[in-house]
Amino acid sequence: MSEQKQAEQHVVIVGAGMAGVQTAVALRERGFTGPVTLIGAEPHQPYDRPPLSKAVLLGKAEGSAFEIDFEELGVELRLGLDVTGLRADDHEIDTEAGPVGYDVLVVATGAQPITLPGTEGVPGVHLLRTLDDAVRLGPVLERRHSVVVVGAGWIGAEFATAAREAGCAVTVVEAADRPLAGALPAEVTTPMAEWYGENGAELLTRARVRTVEPGTPGTVVLDDGRELPADAVVVGIGAVPATGWLTGSGIALDPGGAVTADERLRTSLPDVYAVGDCASFPSARYGRRLLVHHWDNALQGPRTVAATITGGGAGGDADSGPYDPVPYFWSEQFGRFVQYAGHHADADELIRRGDPAEKTWSVLWLRAGVPVALLAVGRPRDLAQGRRLIESATAVDPVRAADPSVPLKAAVA
Ligand SMILES: Cc1cc2nc3c(=O)[nH]c(=O)nc-3n(C[C@H](O)[C@H](O)[C@H](O)COP(=O)(O)OP(=O)(O)OC[C@H]3O[C@@H](n4cnc5c(N)ncnc54)[C@H](O)[C@@H]3O)c2cc1C
Repeated sequence: MSEQKQAEQHVVIVGAGMAGVQTAVALRERGFTGPVTLIGAEPHQPYDRPPLSKAVLLGKAEGSAFEIDFEELGVELRLGLDVTGLRADDHEIDTEAGPVGYDVLVVATGAQPITLPGTEGVPGVHLLRTLDDAVRLGPVLERRHSVVVVGAGWIGAEFATAAREAGCAVTVVEAADRPLAGALPAEVTTPMAEWYGENGAELLTRARVRTVEPGTPGTVVLDDGRELPADAVVVGIGAVPATGWLTGSGIALDPGGAVTADERLRTSLPDVYAVGDCASFPSARYGRRLLVHHWDNALQGPRTVAATITGGGAGGDADSGPYDPVPYFWSEQFGRFVQYAGHHADADELIRRGDPAEKTWSVLWLRAGVPVALLAVGRPRDLAQGRRLIESATAVDPVRAADPSVPLKAAVA
């Protein structure tokens, strides 16, 4: 885009989370000089979410606001403002404070947690997505309340970890037969079930919540009739793209509500992009569309969006090509640092590095001898080296790769 053209373009970003903020930052880093407006529904200064289930929850950090001076960056910040609709023909969005025109629109509205049916508004039932949620949960930990966590996924495990650290009695109720059933295969997650008991949390698998009865304490009633007393209930059963406001706009969404962006994160509507937890993108690397609900995706995707807005994706640097990352995330749970890179769905071989009963181990997934994904527990070097092998699609020797004393980079075939 020419400098003249850029100066005329008004970029409006909806959603002031990681992806929205990073889009604004990346635009300025690329020398974009036009007006940028960042609109967010939450009233708080934009902040980072991962600390919410860790340091913020435990009162070790007051908040996790991004250290960014938006005024200095020349970004108009409009907080506490809900965007309610998009009228692409008019190049306008609707907000509670009236319409806002755009030349280029970036949808970065993230995801919203799934609620447990029948428990919305029940006192003592919590979600953990926002700073307000974490602040509400602070006293639960401080007072060492007894807690029932619904869902043994990433958020459930991290909350259970923090609650145990604070001295709460913790019971985790999981409908599947093991933790993280939706994210990882049984051979990997079965050993993780032990982590709960080791840390004094009770994990009930194949257990479904029928209802939550309010009270002091309240009662979580399971399908099989068991009753669990709980001062607080924390629901962590997943999240869905926060795209309800796009209904009727004509933008293409998949059945799960994710905006189906293309390889440069453009949507089906002209001049509208989508990035972060709210959007899926086609991955040539994995031969399928990916919807990634992790921090690194909300950091990297905006660079592609900014490159395309400013340069038309004409090439010339890494961010100007198609968006096709090796997805990455981490989790801190039960005294362990868990990291995952890649996508294992089409793998045909699983290689273990170390014994999962030990504190540190990793697992490498291969397809036709080439690493496609890696899970590392307390082995960050495996993660770093494995991620590079996945990125470069470098085949490994399975025998050497299975020896945890051999660095992965030395296991190249
Ligand atoms: C408690 C917690 C812990 C996490 N820990 C980790 C971790 O350890 N590792 C990891 O890799 N990932 C972690 N994640 C995931 C990571 O934080 C997310 O992937 C990331 O925040 C996604 O960024 P985003 O900007 O796409 O969405 P969000 O962070 O959800 O931001 C979207 C913003 O848009 C706003 N918005 C939504 N709808 C509208 C609207 N209609 N109008 C205006 N504004 C709107 C929302 O209020 C929100 O502030 C964690 C997430 C949570 C909730």
